[in-house]
Amino acid sequence: MVLGVGLKPNKGVESVVDMLKLSKTPDQFLLEAHPKLRPVDMATEGIYIAGCCASPKDITDSIAQGKAAASGSLVYFVLGKAKIEPAICEINEELCIGCGRCEDACPFGALALDEVRHVMTVNEAVCKGCGGCNAICPSGAATMKHYRDRQVYAQIEALTQIGSANAS
Ligand code: SF4
Ligand code: SF4
Repeated sequence: MVLGVGLKPNKGVESVVDMLKLSKTPDQFLLEAHPKLRPVDMATEGIYIAGCCASPKDITDSIAQGKAAASGSLVYFVLGKAKIEPAICEINEELCIGCGRCEDACPFGALALDEVRHVMTVNEAVCKGCGGCNAICPSGAATMKHYRDRQVYAQIEALTQIGSANAS
């Protein structure tokens, strides 16, 4: 029996994680978007991973992942454009007070305060539509495109009506 030595992520990865707002596993490796369906994609569009930055791997797996990551990134160059999510954050500049709470809450680094106009701005290519900023915004300035509060309330109302009909 041959035991392998423990493998830890490189400490230098921290600066990349902070800069690109990447997700990590509890043991500090990079976290792919989905272990089976998107094993070389990060949750942030256009960022790919391969090899031991995601978990301990042998050379064969690392090469296969490297090829997959290279192919995935080529799609953007071939198409010359990228698709974005339809339900993404939208800031109402009339209501925004520039408090910055949403920027701190965004896990993808999609928000940045416009220091001159003192309003929040959204990088639509980075936003993943998680809704975190909507929940924390004190003035109601941050909302979701194509997924308004009234739609959520209508869904809740429909569900509660079904619940009461089933109970009676
Ligand atoms: S919806 Fe989520 S990803 Fe998009 S800006 Fe708000 S917190 Fe960030
Ligand atoms: S939390 Fe709301 S009010 Fe504060 S900066 Fe963000 S969008 Fe503007």
